[in-house]
Amino acid sequence: MTITSQLDLMPGVEPSATALLLLGRGSDPRSERGVECPGDLPAPSDPDLVERARAAKERLGSRVFVLGHHYQRDEVIQFADVTGDSFKLSRDAAARPEAEFIVFCGVHFMAESADILTSDAQTVVLPDLAAGCSMADMATAEQVAECWDVLTEAGVADTTVPVSYMNSSADIKAFTGRHGGTICTSSNAERALRWAFEQGEKVLFLPDQHLGRNTAVRLLGMSLEDCVVYNPHKPGGGVSVEELRAAKMILWRGHCSVHGRFSLDSVEDVRARVPGVNVLVHPECKHEVVAAADYVGSTEYIINKLEEAPADSKWAIGTELNLVRRLAGRFPDKEIVFLDRTVCFCSTMNRIDLPHLVWTLESLADGKVVNRIQVDKETEHWAKAALERMLALP
Ligand code: SF4
Repeated sequence: MTITSQLDLMPGVEPSATALLLLGRGSDPRSERGVECPGDLPAPSDPDLVERARAAKERLGSRVFVLGHHYQRDEVIQFADVTGDSFKLSRDAAARPEAEFIVFCGVHFMAESADILTSDAQTVVLPDLAAGCSMADMATAEQVAECWDVLTEAGVADTTVPVSYMNSSADIKAFTGRHGGTICTSSNAERALRWAFEQGEKVLFLPDQHLGRNTAVRLLGMSLEDCVVYNPHKPGGGVSVEELRAAKMILWRGHCSVHGRFSLDSVEDVRARVPGVNVLVHPECKHEVVAAADYVGSTEYIINKLEEAPADSKWAIGTELNLVRRLAGRFPDKEIVFLDRTVCFCSTMNRIDLPHLVWTLESLADGKVVNRIQVDKETEHWAKAALERMLALP
C-alpha cells in the first residue's frame, strides 16, 4: 500500500511533514529546500520526451544553459551543455552571461551557489525542488548559530575559523563568510584548512565530518584525537568544554548518505572478489574506508585517474553509482566495478529526470519561469564573501 492510500484511509489524520516530503508535496521549514513541485509533469512513459526536450531546448537557443552534475542520470546528462562538479558548474554558468536561464540539473545547494555566482540578469532553475541534499540538510542555520554560542561560551570562538564544504546551504555559506571563514571543495580542502590554520588555532568544519577528518589526518598530519565531533542533536554538541579547548578540528556531525554507506567490509570484499583491483574512493567516505583505499580524491580526480589508467587495469570505485556506470561505459578497456555490492544512487540527485527536465524547458520556452532558486541579498553577500576567500586561496 502506498503512503498516499494509507493517509487517504485515515480521515482526520493530517500527513506529517516527513510524509509530505516523501510524497513530494508540501514544504519542510527545517530543510534547506522546499519540496513542492507544481505543474503538470509529462508521464515518464511518454515516448516523445527526448524529442520534446530537444525541441524546447532548440526554441530557447542560447537563452538557456543546461548544467549536468556528474551524478545525474544519463537521460538528463544527454541534454547538458556542460558536465562537472558543483563548483565547476557554477563557474561555467557565471562565464555564460548571455544565458538568461541556467537550468541546474543537480541539487538545491548547487542551484543556490549558481545563483550567488551568476549575475542578477540570470535566472537559476532547479527542475525538481525536492532535489535536496541530505548532507546539506544536516546543518541548519539555527543549529550552527547555537554551536557558535557553545564555542563562544567555551572561550574558543575567537580562535576558531569556520570552513564549510561546498555541499552546504547558502545560509551556512553566509555564516562562514560572516565569521571570516572560507568554503572548500573536495579538491581544495587541504589548501582551505592550511589557510584556516594560519588565521586561527581551530577549525569548525561543516557539514561533512568525513571530508574534514580525512583531510586533517591524511593531508595535514593530525591525529584522530585532534578531532572532536559536534552533534547538533545533543546539548552542548555532546562535547565538553575541555574537549573543545583541546581540539584542533571541530567536526560537524554530518555525512553524505551515499558515500557514508561504503564500509571496510566493502573494501575487503572487493579485494577478495577482484584480485589486483585498485580501490579508488571519494573523501566523503568514512575514515576507515579511505585509510584502506589505494587512492582518494574528488570526483574530478576519480575521472582523471581512470583516464590515465593503463588498459586492463582493475578499479573499484567508491562514489555515486550513476557516475561509476558512465565511467565503466566510457573506459571499456578497463575493468571498473562499483565498490559495494548494494545499489547506491543519490536518491535526491535522481529526482531530476526527463519528465522534470521537459516540463522545465517547455515552461521556459513558453515564457513561464518555474522553480526559480533565488538567494536573498544579505545571504548572498556573505556567502559570496566566503566563496571569494576560497577563490583567493593560495
Ligand atoms: S551524493 Fe551525497 S553529498 Fe552529493 S547530493 Fe547526494 S547526498 Fe548530497
